[in-house]
Amino acid sequence: MAYLRNLNPAQLQAVEHSPNIPLQILAGPGSGKTRVLTARIAHLIFHHRILPQAICAVTFTNKAANEMRARLQVLVGRHETGLIRMGTFHALCASFLRRHGSKLNLETNFTICDADESKKIIKKLLEDHTKFLADKNVSLTEGTAMSLISKVKARGETADDLRARHLRMKARQSDGRKRRRPQPLDDDQDEDGGTNPLLQDVNVLEVVADVYKRYERKLRQSNSLDFDDLLLFGVRLFERHPSVGEWCEHVLVDEFQDTNTIQYELMRRIAAASGCVTIVGDPDQSIYGWRSAEVKNLRNMLRDFPQTQQILLEQNYRSTASILGASMAIVAQDKKRVAKTLLATHPIGRRPMLQLHLNEYEEATFIATEIKHLVAATGGMLAWGDFVVLLRFNALSRLIESALQKEGIPNRILGGHKFFERLEVKDLLAYLQLIDNPHFVPAFSRAINVPARGIGEKTVAEILATAERLKLSPLTVVTRIHDGKLPDIKPSVKRKLATFVPPMQKLRKLARERTPPSALIRRLLHLVEFEAHLKKTQKDWDSRVENVQELINFASEVETSEGIAGGVRPDAGERWDVDEDWDVLPELDLEDERLSLGSDTPLRLFLQASMLSTDVAAENKDDGKGKVTLTTCHAAKGLEWPVVFIPAGMLEDGTFPSHRAEDVDEERRLLYVACTRAQTLLYLTHANSRMFAGETRKKDLSEFVSIALKENQNSFAREAPHLTANLSAGDRALLAKMLGRQAPDEAEVARRLAEQYVVARCPDVQFSDFLHYQAAESTRL
Ligand code: ATP
Ligand code: MG
Repeated sequence: MAYLRNLNPAQLQAVEHSPNIPLQILAGPGSGKTRVLTARIAHLIFHHRILPQAICAVTFTNKAANEMRARLQVLVGRHETGLIRMGTFHALCASFLRRHGSKLNLETNFTICDADESKKIIKKLLEDHTKFLADKNVSLTEGTAMSLISKVKARGETADDLRARHLRMKARQSDGRKRRRPQPLDDDQDEDGGTNPLLQDVNVLEVVADVYKRYERKLRQSNSLDFDDLLLFGVRLFERHPSVGEWCEHVLVDEFQDTNTIQYELMRRIAAASGCVTIVGDPDQSIYGWRSAEVKNLRNMLRDFPQTQQILLEQNYRSTASILGASMAIVAQDKKRVAKTLLATHPIGRRPMLQLHLNEYEEATFIATEIKHLVAATGGMLAWGDFVVLLRFNALSRLIESALQKEGIPNRILGGHKFFERLEVKDLLAYLQLIDNPHFVPAFSRAINVPARGIGEKTVAEILATAERLKLSPLTVVTRIHDGKLPDIKPSVKRKLATFVPPMQKLRKLARERTPPSALIRRLLHLVEFEAHLKKTQKDWDSRVENVQELINFASEVETSEGIAGGVRPDAGERWDVDEDWDVLPELDLEDERLSLGSDTPLRLFLQASMLSTDVAAENKDDGKGKVTLTTCHAAKGLEWPVVFIPAGMLEDGTFPSHRAEDVDEERRLLYVACTRAQTLLYLTHANSRMFAGETRKKDLSEFVSIALKENQNSFAREAPHLTANLSAGDRALLAKMLGRQAPDEAEVARRLAEQYVVARCPDVQFSDFLHYQAAESTRL
């Protein structure tokens, strides 16, 4: 079988391991874990005759799912690949809940509420506690409240649990006061209590419990679920209705070290029927502790699946030996970690470069000019798409972006949810969300005034209050006002609704007719005169128009991948009425609105893909090919690039380790993850001083790097004599010529080789191709 070729013995063993014995594949970066997982899926299908639809594969990002899908299409075919239930935990839950949500009394046409929308809701709810918090002298921002709620949710605690916790804490405290001795908060002293002392504050707990409760209510009223809810309800679904998971014969999870408690719980329950699980992971790459990821899930798995066996992979196929050496020198500083072997397959290559700069401007300029230089010097062997700049935070990208632009280097930002956070994209998504779910208040509040219709905040509040009172969606309320079936509001809004209600009616009708989302967006743009609105309100309207186009492209991609290009007709027997006007539906319109769009409409599939997109703008692969990528270390997990730059204070005390980070070990692992993305060239840059919160600060090199530097220099000196082993006679002669001597000594050859043997990952490229490339003088790590 093709997928079994090119695997080393340990990888082969992992792929062929019996499907009935749970398996943990533990190994360092670039050792082929993801490749093995993919091959194992193919093996389950071909050899063990497991149906593709009985396999559940969990990836950490959508990009990873897409890559795995692309590889599997080659291995098992397009149709079979389409049947595998594959995606992030969130995306999988969303689709399970769309299908079975009614078992939990959920409307299956729920809208996914993104973090930005959640934050807005929480901010409003928090306002009711402003005075209380001020009286108690406690500061609690909406961001903190949101992350506290999210953490509590990630552990599966409900608002009522939190309230009960608050009452217990209060009782204990008054008890303690009576006895004049504070009592320990035993069961509250959990991990969260440790890392989040805020939740140990009785006042904060009271406020958070209340905000959490009302936030949940708001979400349900809007018929929406936030990201945490997707997991929470997902677990509940399998817990209460175990039969829902009976289809599943094997669960596979990539990047297992970064699963949190609730995700682990989900995996356990999906696998409950079959007991067949394969996970791959690397504790050294655990970088989501701040999001409640639990490395101890590896041990939990051994407890819950006692048959579990482990296979270790020890060969790295990604990076040159010197990049691997430098990376290992960084991670090895963690004395608590369990050491593991990771051997390089590629030659030593050019050693990672450590560059010191005066300030961040010089640093950014260096990166841009070096990239340009490398592309020119390698005669096109390296293209823009081969470069990535890995940042600690997204916010650090500005300077580098502008330096790249100055040099005319095309670039793109990958990561987070950036593309979908743009104003114009959010505005359009709000329309589409509202078309899909007229109850979704955040979308209504946004769309109603884009383009500006002069409907004030007070009026919007009044519309929302009416909707709540009459148990109607806000969209139905404005439609009725527009049609004169509900009294107008003063000052009159009826007239202003003329540019909102009729377009929405048309668009909803189109959506109900299963119009492909790309066509729906085009129609929307036309009906609300969106381009004119951008021209009128935005200076950079032309680049925003491009983003709109990008959204249409993304929609077309979703249509292709979901098989809805050209629009799919509804399944026979599905209940929906094309002719019936949705807005004149009888009183109980919640129910009718639900039925009116049917389940899994093209629009809904598109919205789901947008909301759950974990990475790049439109995740367009071709897009990345010709552009330098800027992204965060977190978003780069699992990926690889020929050339990696790690700048912007990543290596300075106070930035990396970040002063925000509570866990120095996690910061070190993050740097390790970043370094191990590199295949051929790795640049670490560092500025002597940097602007920080408006003032220039002097920066010292992070100890992660200075310690690694020393260790690595020693080890390089030891290894130098072996480096010439692979040198061809031709290269040796060339090198001799270059050095002006007949027979260069071994050490000299090794040094030159290390500096200039750039493309170790392309064995057919001769060393001589790169002789014209002269490295800038710098420290070699
Ligand atoms: P990470 O921990 O960063 O996610 P990983 O262990 O998942 O890394 P992969 O991404 O699967 O590693 O593989 C790294 C690179 O090595 C890929 O380009 C992959 O195609 C290649 N590779 C893996 N195994 C082999 C092999 N046996 N022969 C040749 N190349 C391999
Ligand atoms: Mg991987």
